Amino acid sequence: MPRIVMKFGGTSMAGSERIRHVAGLVRREAERGNQVAVVVSAMAGETDRLIQFCREAASVYDPREYDVVVASGEQVTSGLLAITLQGMGLNARSYMGWQLPIRASGHAAGLIEGIDVDVLERVFDEQGIAIIPGFQGVAADGSLATLGRGGSDTSAVAIAAAMKADRCDIYTDVDGVYTTDPRIVPRARKLPIVTYEEMLELASVGAKVLQTRSVGLAMRYNLPLQVLSSFEDLPGTLIVREDSLGDYAMERNLITGIAYDRNEARITLSGLPITPGTAAAIFGPLAEGGINYDMIAQGSPTDLTFTVPAATLAQAADILEKAQEAIGYDELSTDTDICKVSIVGVGIRSDPALAARMFATLAERKIDILAIATSEIKVSVLIPQDYSELAVRVLHTAFGLDSEDSA
Ligand code: ADP
Ligand code: ASP
Ligand code: MG
Repeated sequence: MPRIVMKFGGTSMAGSERIRHVAGLVRREAERGNQVAVVVSAMAGETDRLIQFCREAASVYDPREYDVVVASGEQVTSGLLAITLQGMGLNARSYMGWQLPIRASGHAAGLIEGIDVDVLERVFDEQGIAIIPGFQGVAADGSLATLGRGGSDTSAVAIAAAMKADRCDIYTDVDGVYTTDPRIVPRARKLPIVTYEEMLELASVGAKVLQTRSVGLAMRYNLPLQVLSSFEDLPGTLIVREDSLGDYAMERNLITGIAYDRNEARITLSGLPITPGTAAAIFGPLAEGGINYDMIAQGSPTDLTFTVPAATLAQAADILEKAQEAIGYDELSTDTDICKVSIVGVGIRSDPALAARMFATLAERKIDILAIATSEIKVSVLIPQDYSELAVRVLHTAFGLDSEDSA
């Protein structure tokens, strides 16, 4: 019997009517003869609401207790979906993260270390449907743990890999992966198929339609992923290995898509000494503090700019201030009004003209580039945030990605 995991995001689970619709989609897959495990998110906005309560309770809070609070959103929707399916006469049951269990490495943004699927095997033996809260696991000491924002995607893929599912369907509020965020560029085009590699890069530079870790896991287990709408019955986007692209390999664009990320912050250190070891003195303590840094640019021999996730800016600045004497800089400045815009595509590997076209397109619009970062299939630029939508739109046009019917 084919096995599938169906994952439903927050907008898909927002309220009784949406949940009833989701239950209909689950029933359809079960009636097609599939063994089905369902992974659900909290209702749209609920996780933000719960996090806000934690902030109001104390400015610095214990991650263990944060997890107790925020994991509750998914508990509610999984129970509600099970009740709704039972009301339709189906044998559905919810299983919390600790009941499988889904073992997490720690609190608030833990990694999945392993999943026991014996419970699911028993459910399938009895022709049942398992409903599992996404985002939720259990830490080594038995306490609740969560997996980081957007983590239900990763729960779904990890469960699919553990139960050797034939595919994992990610239902969301758009009908697939687009050439850029369709909410800011209405001319974006739906991609029928993309490779894990391209999707991984798109997600890591800000295309939040899938959590980056979920794509990495799907790639590792060669698990076919599909992104599709829970609102409309339309074909979605398949995410597969490069050698499974078939005919699409021929039609592939050199640039797959454009992504943006407004959750980065810029740090500039000026008045740096021109001596070997300066970069090590800056990035060593940051790495020790667990801060991820990116997009390093040297404005002059004595000043250096780089980015960190905005959520870690205060911590990064604190580390650098404490190390001021050891590094020997004069001034530290920060800015959160920035945006990282990236082009992603396999063409970048072999065609330097693509990066050049990106820079020229932004120059034509007089958009300043504050820093640049490249990888094999990606070029990212850091720009002032006010220009983020304009930059994404003009790049989308410049790389021939606009849909034909919008011309
Ligand atoms: P869910 O709650 O279902 O997990 P998310 O809000 O996490 O949904 O992700 C879906 C959103 O991702 C879409 O509403 C869209 O605005 C955004 N998005 C960003 N980039 C892309 C892209 N390239 N293709 C499709 N959606 C994208
Ligand atoms: N509810 C969690 C969040 O909003 C997890 C998820 O929906 O993927 O981040
Ligand atoms: Mg999501």
